[in-house]
Amino acid sequence: MNTGTLQHETHTLLARLGVPESSYTQGDLVVHSPITGQEIARVAVTTESAAQHAIDAAHHAFLSWRTVPAPRRGELVRVLGEELRAEIETLGRLVTIETGKLLSEGFGEVQEMIDICVFAAGLSRQLAGLTIASERPHHRMMETWHPLGVVGVISAFNFPVAVWSWNAALALVCGNAVVWKPSEKTPLTALATHALFERAAAKVGNIPSGLAALLIGDARLGELLVDAPQIPLLSATGSTAMGRAVAPRLAKRFARSILELGGNNAAIVCASADIDLTLRAVAFSAMGTAGQRCTSLRRLIVHETIYDDLITRLKRVYLSVVVNDPRDRNTLVGPLIDARSFTAMQQALDQARSAEATITGGERVILDGAATAFYVRPALVELPAQADVVRRETFAPILYVLKFRDLNEAIALQNDVPQGLSSSIFTLNVREAERFLSASGSDCGIANVNIGTSGAEIGGAFGGEKETGGGRESGSDAWKQYMRRATNTINYGTDLPLAQGVTFDIEK
Ligand code: NAD
Repeated sequence: MNTGTLQHETHTLLARLGVPESSYTQGDLVVHSPITGQEIARVAVTTESAAQHAIDAAHHAFLSWRTVPAPRRGELVRVLGEELRAEIETLGRLVTIETGKLLSEGFGEVQEMIDICVFAAGLSRQLAGLTIASERPHHRMMETWHPLGVVGVISAFNFPVAVWSWNAALALVCGNAVVWKPSEKTPLTALATHALFERAAAKVGNIPSGLAALLIGDARLGELLVDAPQIPLLSATGSTAMGRAVAPRLAKRFARSILELGGNNAAIVCASADIDLTLRAVAFSAMGTAGQRCTSLRRLIVHETIYDDLITRLKRVYLSVVVNDPRDRNTLVGPLIDARSFTAMQQALDQARSAEATITGGERVILDGAATAFYVRPALVELPAQADVVRRETFAPILYVLKFRDLNEAIALQNDVPQGLSSSIFTLNVREAERFLSASGSDCGIANVNIGTSGAEIGGAFGGEKETGGGRESGSDAWKQYMRRATNTINYGTDLPLAQGVTFDIEK
């Protein structure tokens, strides 16, 4: 592995993206690339007073931005999309260096940002409310959607920039300002994205300063957003533990929240499944991004009649898949983000062993020149029965495998975890597919047929139930959460009829 140039390459990419040199060479926050484990940058942490100032400035920017016509606001997001398109390779490569994702996934992450910008620019001409039949003569009733205020965004390391764009593109066309605190593990792609936003704002012109702010730091800065009275909506993506900490604090001040938390995603493979297609879908969902997607496949529930065939083939894939530098085109599994993640993986495997699991893979892979990086061979873990370790999300490439006899049993197993993000069924039987998608089927926010659990498109609303937090981001009508709704009733007659036939006649 060529390690010598990684820091240099990072700095070259950041410079090209318009980030000032002092932003990545000076500061207390040391950034390591998971590809080699080496230091690649030093970044200054935002002080609490600077963060407070940014929140106040964002609120001030909101006061004028909310009066700009929505299609004009959409123009800013459209131009942001163009800036991202022009730099897809640069920013995508930086995503790979900072997170360890494969290059195609780094580019894919930026493509997702472009897609949501396109979506939001179109949406800016479609923000629309209902007209509702009034029970009173000569009355009109309608809904109006208004901008909400400053939207706080807290994001996780594994989608270091896409999550900001899902929130920011919608929030901005809806007339809001945005203050973002990315993961402390991935500040570089955030700095680069912020620079591209500033570039787009300069091109469009007349954009209030401070409309999109960036705070660099750890959970303490996140808490500042959680408690800021100027922030009526906080969108927080991360672990369920983070959600448990922020949700009560937000509730205490009656703030809105979009919580996008941990997943524990399952696929059911029925006897009729197309095994070749299933194998490909399972391999990508479970091993892609080294198991570090919120939608990564963590549980495979296989019909007993095809179990041996599927698992034998899957084992071969697990033992042969290329674990290597994610910049290498042949690599399918890159590194874990850090040592903590590796330890959590090994602890989960130890627990599975004590539940009588048979484990294929799971060991550390040491690459030349990357002794302080954490590469692992993905683990396929066959279990005789559901175990506690299966009910937890371990953010690493571990796939637990269980056997089933009838579909009711499989659906019960799949729903028998605290999380409810993504799920799939592999079947060619329409009854099984529809049963899985029905009210008594999968209890997740995402339920797929003959597609893996990971890899959502931006057109649909994204999010999950139960301990995944209940939030919805991205497409469909997710925009409504970023606005406040006013119900307006207008009397254009000369009488004053009251609703529900109530009378209240006063002497005139
Ligand atoms: P994490 O919870 O450690 O951190 C996420 C973010 O929350 C970081 O920016 C962190 O600084 C901040 N944070 C942590 N504690 C906080 C607190 N008490 N107050 C305010 N901010 C706080 O998560 P991570 O390790 O970066 O990411 C992995 C996790 O994120 C996994 O559980 C994964 O499933 C989840 N995730 C969920 C989705 C989704 O859409 N459901 C998407 C991506 C990741």
